[in-house]
This record gives sequence, C-alpha cells and structure tokens, in this order.
Amino acid sequence: MSNIIHKGGCQCRAVRFEASDPPKFVCNCHCESCRKATGAAFSTWVGFNEDKVRWDNASPTFYASSKGVRRGYCSACGTPLTYASDQWPGETHFLIGVFDDPNAFTPRKEVFTEDALAWALHGKDA
Ligand SMILES: [Zn+2]
Ligand SMILES: [Zn+2]
Repeated sequence: MSNIIHKGGCQCRAVRFEASDPPKFVCNCHCESCRKATGAAFSTWVGFNEDKVRWDNASPTFYASSKGVRRGYCSACGTPLTYASDQWPGETHFLIGVFDDPNAFTPRKEVFTEDALAWALHGKDA
C-alpha cells in the first residue's frame, strides 16, 4: 500500500485533483485525436482507476471528441486535463503536464505510433 498522493490541476487552478499512487500506466500517445485536443505533437498520459482520483472544488468540463470518449478541460482557462473512454471503463487518464510534479512519472510505452510525426519517436533516426 502506497500513501503517495499526486496533486495537479489546470493553469488557473480552478480545477484541482489528487490521484493515489501508483498509476496503471504511463504512455506517449501519438494519435491524431490527442494531437488536436492538446495542440501538442504527442501526448503523455498517466492512467489511474477512477476510485483513486479525487476532484477538489470544480470538476472539468467534458468534450466528446469521438463516440464514447470524454475529454476533460478547464472551462475557465482551457487547459486540457483528462481522457476517459468506454473502451477503458473506470479509468481516468491525465496529461502528464497537469501534475504539480510531472517528474514523478516516466512513459514506458509509445501508442498509435502509426500516426506519429516523423521526428516524434525517440530512438529513431530522422
Ligand atoms: Zn483553469
Ligand atoms: Zn491519443
């Protein structure tokens, strides 16, 4: 049993959360949907079971980027925060950059590499 709590939130601090260690996974997603949702070349996701996540004050606002998918963001400052999908019921995936200490996590896996930008896969020569 771990007592480590990971805290985080959006840029304006209207939405804050806590998640109990350990995460289920940490991965880099190269899919186009994440790229559009975040504006970044790829997204690093830290997945937790929902029952390990607690929202303080405000909850995120959700956008259905595709069927069965809920992407959470702060309606005040626009920071993208979470991903949840019917495909992974009971899980909340957080973007690594919204944690107060993103160095707590290291991605172990690359997913949707077929959608990756040519330069975005490390260990691969351009
Ligand atoms: Zn905010
Ligand atoms: Zn993705």
